[in-house]
Amino acid sequence: MKPSLAIIGAGLAGLTLARELSEQAEISLFEKARGLGGRMSTRRNATHQWDHGAQFFTARSKAFQSQLAPFIEAGNVVEWQPNIITLSPSDKPFKRPWFEPHYVAAPGMNFLLKAMSGELNIQLSTRVETVTRAQDKWQLFDEHAQLLGEYDWVVSSAPLPQTQALLPKALLGDDLAQYHMQPCYALLLTVDDAELPHWDAAKVNHSAIRWISFNHRLPGRNAKAGTVVVHTRSDWAAEHLEDDQEQVKQILLNTFCELTQVIPEAITLAQLHRWRYALSAEVIEPESEFILNVEQKLAACGDWCLGGRVEAAFASAHQLAGALRKVLA
Ligand SMILES: Cc1cc2nc3c(=O)[nH]c(=O)nc-3n(C[C@H](O)[C@H](O)[C@H](O)COP(=O)(O)OP(=O)(O)OC[C@H]3O[C@@H](n4cnc5c(N)ncnc54)[C@H](O)[C@@H]3O)c2cc1C
Repeated sequence: MKPSLAIIGAGLAGLTLARELSEQAEISLFEKARGLGGRMSTRRNATHQWDHGAQFFTARSKAFQSQLAPFIEAGNVVEWQPNIITLSPSDKPFKRPWFEPHYVAAPGMNFLLKAMSGELNIQLSTRVETVTRAQDKWQLFDEHAQLLGEYDWVVSSAPLPQTQALLPKALLGDDLAQYHMQPCYALLLTVDDAELPHWDAAKVNHSAIRWISFNHRLPGRNAKAGTVVVHTRSDWAAEHLEDDQEQVKQILLNTFCELTQVIPEAITLAQLHRWRYALSAEVIEPESEFILNVEQKLAACGDWCLGGRVEAAFASAHQLAGALRKVLA
């Protein structure tokens, strides 16, 4: 009989791990959100959609290129060649070249994860609240103390602070100082496309805002109207994390209008999203791409092990899958 393995979190890392170990283990995935995506989510209302987390990704490693190949073939992942500029409040904007391929999923960022999920056993809207030892198994409970099942192995792919809250300290070790996760605000707008500048995206300097993208202009979108995603700098978000959210929204709206010369009347909808654990600082010399305790049958992976990008989430899970394959065999 195959060992049972519970994976907490169905972002890119959790799904990568589940796909790569489906031959070796009986896998159950638990995801607290209503849909797949994690930080590669797409938010929708009746008429619009915004990719409010990851904006694009690179595929530098051979392993990630191979993983993406069938999804590129199927049109779930497409190369993005935007007209991208550098913008700052005081200088003239200038065009920003990109020297390697950048990809987005289509028709929304979370479609890569939807395509990856296939036949996997995923329980959405299920938050794992506690993980406890009962004889030779791990028991998972939700926030209502409801037993979610008993498993031989547990892997957390949740962001570091959430993994720390779930897994025993003994697994993670004392020295996690090299890993940091930082917040980010996302401002999501609808604006008539005719009112927007001609460029597709901007990297912003010397401002609370660090990134602006005209989301509807991404390839593969079926957009009927202009949608804009604005991201703040992490240090600005950290400073204003607990501020009144209406005030934060207003500051960012004003800054957006100043930077782009879009008139406030052209903005027909504005929503604010607070990412508490958005990005992790680059880990210069990671001790390992993942955390694994074979004796306890516990592990953790995710972008935070390697430095906060989509490709890091894949690499961490891919490396952990390789290590687990040896011990599950
Ligand atoms: C605003 C923003 C902009 C970004 N921009 C880029 C970019 O342009 N390019 C790039 O490469 N990367 C970018 N990133 C980073 C990228 O999104 C992440 O590196 C990647 O998505 C991380 O994947 P993951 O699977 O490691 O984690 P996640 O996607 O966070 O997946 C973890 C999952 O665990 C779930 N979870 C957490 N706790 C529990 C629990 N107790 N029970 C059940 N489920 C739980 C969460 O809901 C989540 O779905 C950005 C991120 C943000 C937030």
